[in-house]
Amino acid sequence: MPKPELWKNRKRYYDFKSFLVNRFGCKVYKLQIDAGFTCPNRDGKVAEGGCAYCDGRGSSLRQKGPLPPVAEQVRSGKSLYRNLRDAAKFIAYFQTFTNTYGPVEKLRALYDEAILQEDVIGLSIGTRPDCIDEEILNLLQGYAKTKHIWIEYGLQSIHDRTLERMNRGHDAAAFIEAVRKTAGRGLFICTHIIVGLPGETREQILETAKTIAALPIDGIKIHCLLALRGTEVGRLYEEGSITLPDMGDYVDTVCDILEVLPPATVIQRLTAEGYRDICLGPDWAANKLKVLNAIDRELEKRDTYQGAKYDVTGNRLQALWGSL
Ligand code: SF4
Repeated sequence: MPKPELWKNRKRYYDFKSFLVNRFGCKVYKLQIDAGFTCPNRDGKVAEGGCAYCDGRGSSLRQKGPLPPVAEQVRSGKSLYRNLRDAAKFIAYFQTFTNTYGPVEKLRALYDEAILQEDVIGLSIGTRPDCIDEEILNLLQGYAKTKHIWIEYGLQSIHDRTLERMNRGHDAAAFIEAVRKTAGRGLFICTHIIVGLPGETREQILETAKTIAALPIDGIKIHCLLALRGTEVGRLYEEGSITLPDMGDYVDTVCDILEVLPPATVIQRLTAEGYRDICLGPDWAANKLKVLNAIDRELEKRDTYQGAKYDVTGNRLQALWGSL
């Protein structure tokens, strides 16, 4: 398969940085925002205790004390880039917990605080598939008429048994329904998946990737399961009930995933970041650059690209899309 021309990069996959440069003609930085939301999987609405791998602390900003207003977070985030010659535009990334969990007027006020600021060209809203509705999607669709809007749905796995085991509080059908409601509104859809979830085989992980490949999803974030102190996964890891992938396994699996995704899917992340103070394993995940370089080397060794195995499976599911 020849390298797709639209990427205009040096990678063997379509990285987010290149996508943004191609679209906006300049560097675009994501500003992390903690708007003070909680999560229905933690506060009792869906469940208590949260996902088995989630540490529940929220952003480092939240851990320091009362949160500054969103507008102030955007201003201080932008100031970090002021000295960079090429810093030009920003996306406000509502990242912490479930950023659509509230009445639509509250959401509008919080999003407006970010999007009305100079040089903020868009929003990225992290949320759960069971936490959107028509009103919220209409609000985001309204912004999308003039701004660049991503909605990021946590999925992690397409397998209900895994979702249940991880206490996600929603099933795969909820995710597919959320994507269906979101598609066709001018919004960009990103989804998050985890490699190394307990009990999952490589084939099962690839089934998740192939399902994503078959849906109208524009971007993906992939990371390895981290065992964090204070979480159920951390507890299982410490007592020896679960193992975590070694770096070779992870790199191989990520390359397999990249091969089955469509060439146009934007790869927003390929490693987990942060958590150094509470991460029990795997140790190798702390070295982001080493992991990214290993992925590059593996793709080179295979002489392959993202999309090289994007095939009939996706097409078949695409045909079923209307009846899902
Ligand atoms: S949905 Fe997200 S914020 Fe909520 S418990 Fe799970 S990982 Fe944590």
